[in-house]
Amino acid sequence: MPIYAYKCAQCGHTEDVMQKMSDAELTVCPQCGQTTFSKQLSAAGFQLKGNGYYATDFKNKPADAPACGSGGCPACVS
Ligand SMILES: [Zn+2]
Repeated sequence: MPIYAYKCAQCGHTEDVMQKMSDAELTVCPQCGQTTFSKQLSAAGFQLKGNGYYATDFKNKPADAPACGSGGCPACVS
């Protein structure tokens, strides 16, 4: 199941959400409750920390990234 990176435009909350392709997009932020939660275009973990470190790391070494949910994934540590 694909994991989508969501971000709230209101409070800046980010969350990786596992969804089926057929599932409707989430719109309500679990943090602030506003309907400003939206799916990001980039892959999970791509923009999470607001700098280029992870983006560069993921681009260069995708095969080395631990699986999400394993506890060692940098994209899941927030
Ligand atoms: Zn929010």
